[in-house]
Amino acid sequence: MIAERAILIPNSAIRQFFNLAQGMENVNDLTIGAPDFETPEYIVKSAVKASLEGHHYYSANAGIMPLRKAIAAKLERDNGISYDPETEIDVTIGATEALGLLMMTLLNPGDEVILADPTWPNYITQILMAGGVPVRVPTFEKDGFSLQVDAVEEAITERTKAILINSPNNPTGAILDRESVKGFVELARKHGLYLISDEVYEKIIYDQNQHFSPASLPDTKDFVITVNSFSKSYAMCGWRVGYVAASEKVITPLLKLQEGMASCANTMAQMAAVTALEGPQDAVNEMVKRYRARRDLMVEGLNKIPGISVEKPGGAFYLFVNVKGLGKSSQEIATELLQKTGVMTVPGSGFGSAGEGFLRICYAKNDELLQKALERIHDVVIKDY
Ligand code: PLP
Repeated sequence: MIAERAILIPNSAIRQFFNLAQGMENVNDLTIGAPDFETPEYIVKSAVKASLEGHHYYSANAGIMPLRKAIAAKLERDNGISYDPETEIDVTIGATEALGLLMMTLLNPGDEVILADPTWPNYITQILMAGGVPVRVPTFEKDGFSLQVDAVEEAITERTKAILINSPNNPTGAILDRESVKGFVELARKHGLYLISDEVYEKIIYDQNQHFSPASLPDTKDFVITVNSFSKSYAMCGWRVGYVAASEKVITPLLKLQEGMASCANTMAQMAAVTALEGPQDAVNEMVKRYRARRDLMVEGLNKIPGISVEKPGGAFYLFVNVKGLGKSSQEIATELLQKTGVMTVPGSGFGSAGEGFLRICYAKNDELLQKALERIHDVVIKDY
C-alpha cells in the first residue's frame, strides 16, 4: 500500500492542463512560471569552465564556500541582512528544496503553517509531506491580493508554528509593503512563530514598488528565515540552485536532512551561481524591463475583452485575471480556452478556493506568443460567452 502521505498530496492543476494539451497542436502555453529568456551567456560560460576544470565532485552539504560568501555579500548589499556564510547559509536545489527541507526541519505532525490563499501549490505539498497542516488565509482582489496582517493573526492557534509570506507573489503578483512586512514580523515575534519569507521574485518588481526583507529588521534572526534562488532573477530555473539563510539553530539540523535528501546542489551550477551574483547585473535589469512591457501589453489587452478584468500587479510575471463576468467556473473557462483556442492558462481554483473566478496567466513568454494569445482569447469570448 502506498503511504497516506503520498495519497494526501493533491494533483497539480498545471499538470492536469499539460495532460489535457497532450497531442494538441499550436498550443499557446501561458502556464509554467519559467522565464523564456536564456541564462546570460557569461553565467553559462562559467559553468562550462567549471566543468572543464574538473569540478565534478560533491560539495559540502551547505554548498561551496565561494557561493555562500557571495550570497552573504548579496544579502548584505541588496537586503540589508547579515548572515554568516559559515553557519547561517545553506545552498539548496532551488528554493523548492530549501522550502521542503525547512518544513521538515520546523514541523512536527499537526503543526500549522499559515499562508495566503491563493498560493503556490508546492507549499501545500511541502507542508503535507512534513506532516504539517496548511492554514490558508484568503486574500482579495480589492486589497491587490495582499495578505492582511489581522487576518493572519485571527488564524493563529496553539498549533501554529510558522507564517509563510511570498512577495512578489505567485500566483497574483501582489507585493507586501513595508508596513505589512513589519506587521508580520511583530506578529511572529509576539506569538513565538517562525516567519518564512520566500523572496524568489524579489528582482522582478515594477514601478514604485520596492522589495523589503523581514530579516532586515532588528533582532529577528532567531525566527525570520529568508529563502531565495537563482531561477527567476537570472533565468536559471533549470540549474536548480537556491538557498536558505537563517540562524545556526535552524541551519544545523536542516543540513542533516539535506544530507539524507540530496547531499548538496550541483557543484558546477553552484560555480555558475557565484558568477551570477558577482557579475554585471545588466541582464537582470533588461529582463525586468521586458517583463514590465509584457505585463502592460497583457493588462491593456485583457481589459479590452468583455467580461474580463485585471489589475496591474507590482511584481513577479503573473496576472491573476478576473473572469467572473464570463459566468462559468475557472476550471470550465480554462478548459474551454484550451480546447477552443489552444491558449493554456491555469484555473485560479488550482491555487486555492480564494482563486475561484480567476485564471493565472504567466507572461514570461515571447511578445508574439502573448499577442496571439490575446487575439485568441478575445475572439473566443466575443463568439462564445
Ligand atoms: N517559490 C515560488 C513562489 C515559486 O513560484 C517558485 C517557482 O515557481 C519557487 C519558489 C521555486 O523556485 P526554484 O526554481 O528556485 O525551486
